[in-house]
Amino acid sequence: MSTIVFIDTRGNKIPKAAQEAVTYASQLAGGPVTAVTFGDGKDLETLGANGAGKVIVARQVTTLDSQQLTRLVVDVATKEGATTIVSVSDATGKAVAPRVAARLKAGHVAGALGLPVDGKFLRNVFSGKAKAAVEVTSAARVISLMPNSVPIANTGGSAVVEEFQGDLGPVRITLKEVRKAGTGIPLPEAELVVSAGRGMKGPEHWGPVEELATLLGAATACSRPVADMHWRPHHEHVGQTGVAIRPNLYIAIGISGAIQHLAGVNQSKVICVINKDPEAPFFKAADYGIVGDAFEVLPKLIEAAKKLNAERWAAPRGCHNATPPRTTPPRTPIFTARSRVAWRRSSCASSGSLTATPTRGLTRSYSPRCMATVACRSSSVVSRPRPSPSRWRTSSRRVPLPTTCSRT
Ligand SMILES: Cc1cc2nc3c(=O)[nH]c(=O)nc-3n(C[C@H](O)[C@H](O)[C@H](O)COP(=O)(O)OP(=O)(O)OC[C@H]3O[C@@H](n4cnc5c(N)ncnc54)[C@H](O)[C@@H]3O)c2cc1C
Repeated sequence: MSTIVFIDTRGNKIPKAAQEAVTYASQLAGGPVTAVTFGDGKDLETLGANGAGKVIVARQVTTLDSQQLTRLVVDVATKEGATTIVSVSDATGKAVAPRVAARLKAGHVAGALGLPVDGKFLRNVFSGKAKAAVEVTSAARVISLMPNSVPIANTGGSAVVEEFQGDLGPVRITLKEVRKAGTGIPLPEAELVVSAGRGMKGPEHWGPVEELATLLGAATACSRPVADMHWRPHHEHVGQTGVAIRPNLYIAIGISGAIQHLAGVNQSKVICVINKDPEAPFFKAADYGIVGDAFEVLPKLIEAAKKLNAERWAAPRGCHNATPPRTTPPRTPIFTARSRVAWRRSSCASSGSLTATPTRGLTRSYSPRCMATVACRSSSVVSRPRPSPSRWRTSSRRVPLPTTCSRT
């Protein structure tokens, strides 16, 4: 039983989601897998570091022609005798995976969140309000992985790249023109997202939102009315009818937290909400909440981010975590009693570098590009030991946090 993974590698850089899918497929298979791709992708041999033993590329397919791509995947799966086909739950994967499943009479897990436990895959249902554990009982299975679900493996090594030899049928779609939606970090791939809503009052006030995003190395997003009113481009609209994202950190500024908005962002690992209305529904879904006027809070966050960046780059070269920046609790943000509600929702024992636990004066790395200081003044603060400098020195970029904590 072999496993293949279908990925979209068009462009100059292999997308993060493609590397995640290869990593996931090789973990599922317990060894190297065959990656199937198309178009002009470069450096395909580097997928070997993520777990691909071989990459089969159909250079002749340059557009998202789902029928040709379905033929490609089915052809490779048949030749390789693959019974597991992994793809990414993105636009390309969503167009191809169900077709492949139908052709192979395979069960399809759409939007798997990780490796199966007891043979069951978890996936979101009802816009992320619940999770379903699904088991595939057919001989073949197609698994579409949600982006940002697994850390990318980097084991070194190189994959063998082969050109696809075979008939993919007539070309029905020709590419006329490519217009780039934006030059920044693509939203589905972003580990950090700074998002704003109607609370920003108008497009002329987006400067600070963009500045904070740039300082954090984050992508920008917005609520639907903001895109509808043409304050921001439509590709930034997140939610039920927009892009669904799963960043490590989602900062929502002046967004009420309507259910349709939450549907696209509630899978974010940490949610920070800034809203002047303490009753805004978004606070119920938040891990951190700042009750305040965005026009007062944002400049302070920008100031803090600039300070942290300056300290970070002042650290010895090649070792950004060498010295944890000395931090004093900033005057803002102040976490109100509401953050206590949010805190209880969050997991105490979250592992890895990300945790929803409020910490006092602790500077942490949310991603290789961002440092964040979190400080609280309210009685809901959980005080925990600060990681020793040696821990920062010896760790890789992400600092594991203690998993034990107390609640007040
Ligand atoms: C079928 C359907 C699909 C939809 N799909 C989506 C979707 O995909 N995505 C989406 O976002 N919406 C979607 N919506 C719309 C959704 O229901 C909400 O109307 C929308 O999300 C509200 O956007 P908002 O929070 O930016 O604006 P508002 O609801 O106007 O909220 C503005 C918030 O900003 C706060 N605020 C105001 N001034 C300040 C300030 N100075 N500082 C700080 N906070 C401030 C206010 O307290 C308020 O909470 C959909 C609706 C329908 C019916």
